[in-house]
Amino acid sequence: MEKRKKFLPYGQQWIEEDDINAVVETLKSPFLTTGPKIQEFEETIANYVGAKYAVAFSNGTAALHGACYAAGIGEGDEVITTPITFASSANCARYMGATIVFADIDEHTYNINPAEIEKKITDKTKAIIPVDFTGQPVDIDAIMDVAKKNDCVVIEDGAHSLGAEYKGEKVGTRADMTMFSFHPVKPVTTAEGGVIVTNNKEFYDKMILFRSHGITHTPYAEEQGGWYYEMIDLGYNYRMTDIQAALGISQMKKIDSFIERRRELAAKYTELLQDIPYIKAPKQLENTESGWHLYSVQLDTKQIGKSRKQIFEEMREANIGVHVHYIPVYWHPYYQQLGYKKGLCPIAEKWYENALTLPLFPKMIDKDVEDVINFFTK
Ligand SMILES: *Cc1c(COP(=O)(O)O)cnc(C)c1O
Repeated sequence: MEKRKKFLPYGQQWIEEDDINAVVETLKSPFLTTGPKIQEFEETIANYVGAKYAVAFSNGTAALHGACYAAGIGEGDEVITTPITFASSANCARYMGATIVFADIDEHTYNINPAEIEKKITDKTKAIIPVDFTGQPVDIDAIMDVAKKNDCVVIEDGAHSLGAEYKGEKVGTRADMTMFSFHPVKPVTTAEGGVIVTNNKEFYDKMILFRSHGITHTPYAEEQGGWYYEMIDLGYNYRMTDIQAALGISQMKKIDSFIERRRELAAKYTELLQDIPYIKAPKQLENTESGWHLYSVQLDTKQIGKSRKQIFEEMREANIGVHVHYIPVYWHPYYQQLGYKKGLCPIAEKWYENALTLPLFPKMIDKDVEDVINFFTK
């Protein structure tokens, strides 16, 4: 295989002149943080997905932490999530002292399996954190049914799925709270950033408190004086800056074209992979439109006659930036020390052994997809 001249990463942001101008304009304005751009960004996201409220945070992990706080998760509670995700989806509930329970994935969608969630429910289950892995929406209606029967809160980790659709609607309104991340590889970026969208005013108020030290100003001014505030709970400084929000507002003007391009590139991969029997292309659940954050294939390493590690290294050597998402969360030493055993979620573990993420981001050209596929055919 001929080596590509330029390294092709698995994901990358797309920043243009108008994005840069939006940031510079904010730098020249009176507000660098907690100014008008935050509210505008929150309204932009809420309107885009059709939710009532949005709360911006300094990053997606902080946003998930805020959602866990709003849900009232605490010590003694159990929280169910998938092992095939970034560590944050589990860590956020650990921050609140909860015990994480991992439920196995569906072998076709690679998302958490609602039937497996149901098996893991106990009277201690406080919340479910399903993840729209690769941008493919989870079966949120099935998960909400399980949650309602068992009085649990559902926090959807939509880090990959801003712009994806479930039953004709944008992801972000069916779960109790939904998180979107704005890390540079995600659908649109604020460099670092995260948002929770919700239709629940009580959750919204709690998150506003949590992201700024647990401090509130509102009820006191008249009685105590205009300077007065009270810290009523232990919060954090998880605020997003106006600089980041300005970048986010500018990026959101392009989200539809970004997603459109991701869908085209994914369709091209899927079409070309049809002729390659030893690589399985990802499937979509009926009634969903993935946002295609990642394009994750399954390798038949026996048929290929090479290990995944060999394939990974040869592709990196050819300047094709493949990756692997994700190592099962409970395999990490931190979770192993808490007592989680390998073998806990057999479908997820088997899936992981053969998983490979191919490069996919809107700025890619068709020739990039062909280079990746040519590597396999040659
Ligand atoms: C990126 C990501 C997060 C965390 O987002 P940050 O903004 O990087 O903190 C959480 N969950 C998943 C699945 C992610 O991919």
